[in-house]
Formats: sequence, structure tokens, C-alpha cells
Amino acid sequence: MAEHHHILVTGGAGFLGSHLVDRLLADGHSVVCLDNLFTGKAANIAHLKNNPRLHFIEHDVITPLSLKVDMIYNLACPASPVHYQADAVRTLKTSVLGAINMLDLARANNARIFQASTSEVYGDPDVHPQPESYWGNVNPHGIRSCYDEGKRCAESLFFDYHRQYGVEIKVARIFNTYGSRMHPQDGRVVSNFIVQALRGEDLTIYGDGQQTRSFCFVDDLIEGFVRLMNSKPEVTGPVNLGNPNEFTMMELAEKVLHLTSSNSKLVYLPLPLDDPQQRRPDISLAQTLLDWEPKIQLENGLVKTIAYFQSLKG
Ligand code: NAD
Ligand code: UDP
Repeated sequence: MAEHHHILVTGGAGFLGSHLVDRLLADGHSVVCLDNLFTGKAANIAHLKNNPRLHFIEHDVITPLSLKVDMIYNLACPASPVHYQADAVRTLKTSVLGAINMLDLARANNARIFQASTSEVYGDPDVHPQPESYWGNVNPHGIRSCYDEGKRCAESLFFDYHRQYGVEIKVARIFNTYGSRMHPQDGRVVSNFIVQALRGEDLTIYGDGQQTRSFCFVDDLIEGFVRLMNSKPEVTGPVNLGNPNEFTMMELAEKVLHLTSSNSKLVYLPLPLDDPQQRRPDISLAQTLLDWEPKIQLENGLVKTIAYFQSLKG
């Protein structure tokens, strides 16, 4: 019989967190979902409210807490540029103090801890695609640095707690992920284009639309999370998790217009500062260590995501 754990998910009412909570409960675990509801919503986990194995705590990871758990997934942090730049100092505190508090909790419980790191640690990369061995090209004081440097510092903390105190760590570097429960106003490109197309509004292309991203569907990513968490103790990461198929923002806009049968037009707006020009994960490590790779291609994932945003309109 599979072993059942008592698991803390920080940021569990957010986009990725709520999908992870669904998966962990379905696998039979008990879950404490912790969130300060900054960008997350109670509605994202409302369908689970009668599940006796789920417990919700409204709490900010900036403040320490004491709890009995044997696994921690640390996802708490606003993820979209609009939200993480709204209060940059708080974003840094969430990444850095949140990491310290959750690592202290892991240490006190002898628990294994997973960190939701990001492809942003590579910044505007001059190596393509990005392998985990690449150290990145990050502006340390630009408008994205509260997020990029906060996540880089969190990685340092994870590895120092591992080396210094023997805490068992799992660090995932997540590349752009999309799916249901994305915040409709968080300004990320997939949600923006879908919402705009469904409303018949212009699709906002920043810059010339030739910058690239690689989009992973949420179900594929969550499978990667679980495999990494359950990997052998010597597997610490960092491990890239993402879909290696790369698209320009122009290609994405065309796909969304086609799949929504929308008559929306394109409008060109200035490229935000420090916007990375290209991004694609090298996932060889995840393939080797976790036997993992994404299965859901962009069109199929977009169809599901469009259906979700359509359901919000009704
Ligand atoms: P999200 O904004 O939907 O989720 C973040 C959650 O954390 C929200 O529920 C929010 O309320 C909560 N939160 C924020 N600050 C908090 C705090 N101080 N204390 C407690 N809770 C707090 O974003 P997401 O896309 O689900 O991202 C989840 C994690 O994955 C983040 O750490 C993000 O950096 C990382 N990530 C996501 C992506 C992606 O494409 N979605 C890519 C790379 C990394
Ligand atoms: N983008 C865009 N139109 C939008 C929102 C974003 O062209 O309405 C671009 C943005 O400039 C970036 C890419 O899409 O080049 C991905 O942006 P997102 O905010 O989703 O993620 P990140 O930049 O953090 O990868």
C-alpha cells in the first residue's frame, strides 16, 4: 500500500498550489493548505471543502509558524510580473523570509521540502536552451529583480540548509505554466490573450511579439512536482520542469485567435523593461532522473484553458 503523508502546501489557494492540493488529496495524503490569499482565492479550493483530509490556514509565510508535517511544498509567492512588482519589497520578503521560515519548519519536523523556483533565475539568457548548469543573466536591481533575485536567494538558502543542517531538499525550476485557475487579471500572456479574445478586445502584444516562451500545461507540471518530491534523497535539484516546445508571442496570439474563433485584432505595446527575449528549458535532467516529460501539447492545453475562462464568464 502506498505511504500516506501529512503535507503542507504554501500558496495552496493559488493557480499551481490548488492543482497540487487536488493531486495530493487524490493520492490519499492529508494536506494543510496555507495561503494569505494575496493572489490566491478561496474559490480555487472551494470544491474540496468537505474533504476531511484538507485543512486550510490563512497565514503569511513572512511570519514563522509551528506545525506537524512530514513534507512541505513551498509555493507561496506572487508569480506574475504585475503582481510581484505591485509590492516589490513584500515579494522579496515572501521569497527570502518565507524560505527561511519554511526551511526552519522542515528542519524542526525532519521533513522533506520542495521549492517552487523559476526559470527567471536564468534572467534574459545568453545560453539557449537553458540547462540547470547555466548560472543566468539577471539584472540584480531591475524591476524584475525582486522576483528573480528573491528566488535565487531562496535557492541559496535551500542548498545551505541542506549542506549545513542536512535538510532534505527538492528544488524545481518551473518554466511558464498555464491552465485553469490562472488569475484572469494577473497580466500573464496566456490568460491575457484568452480573456481578450473571448471579450473581442485587442490582443496586447508587447514589443514585436518575436520574443519566445515555452508553455507547460498545469497537469504535466504537477506530475513533475510529485515525481521530484518522491525521488531518491540524493536528488536535490535544481531540476528544470517545463515544456521544451518554444513559441513566439505572435504564434501564441494566432493560436488563441484561431481556437476561440475570435475577431479580435492585435495591438502593439512597449516591451516591459528586462523582458527576456527567449526561454526554453533543457529537460534532459528531468527525463533522466524522474522519467518525466510533458505529454500535453499547446493546442490541447489551450482548448482546456479557454473552456475554463469561458465558464467564468457565465
Ligand atoms: P499564484 O499567484 O496563483 O500563487 C501563489 C500563491 O501564493 C497565491 O495563492 C498567493 O495568495 C500565495 N501567497 C503569496 N504571497 C504569500 C505569502 N507571503 N504568504 C502566504 N501565501 C502567499 O501563482 P502560481 O503561478 O500558482 O505560482 C506558484 C509558485 O510557482 C510561485 O512560487 C511561483 O513563483 C512559482 N512559479 C510559477 C510559474 C508559472 O508559470 N505559473 C513559473 C515559475 C515559478
Ligand atoms: N506579453 C505580451 N502580452 C501580454 C502579456 C505578456 O506580449 O498581454 C509578453 C511579455 O512581454 C513576455 C511574454 O509575453 O515577453 C510572457 O509574459 P508573462 O508575463 O506571461 O511571463 P514572463 O515574462 O514572466 O515569462
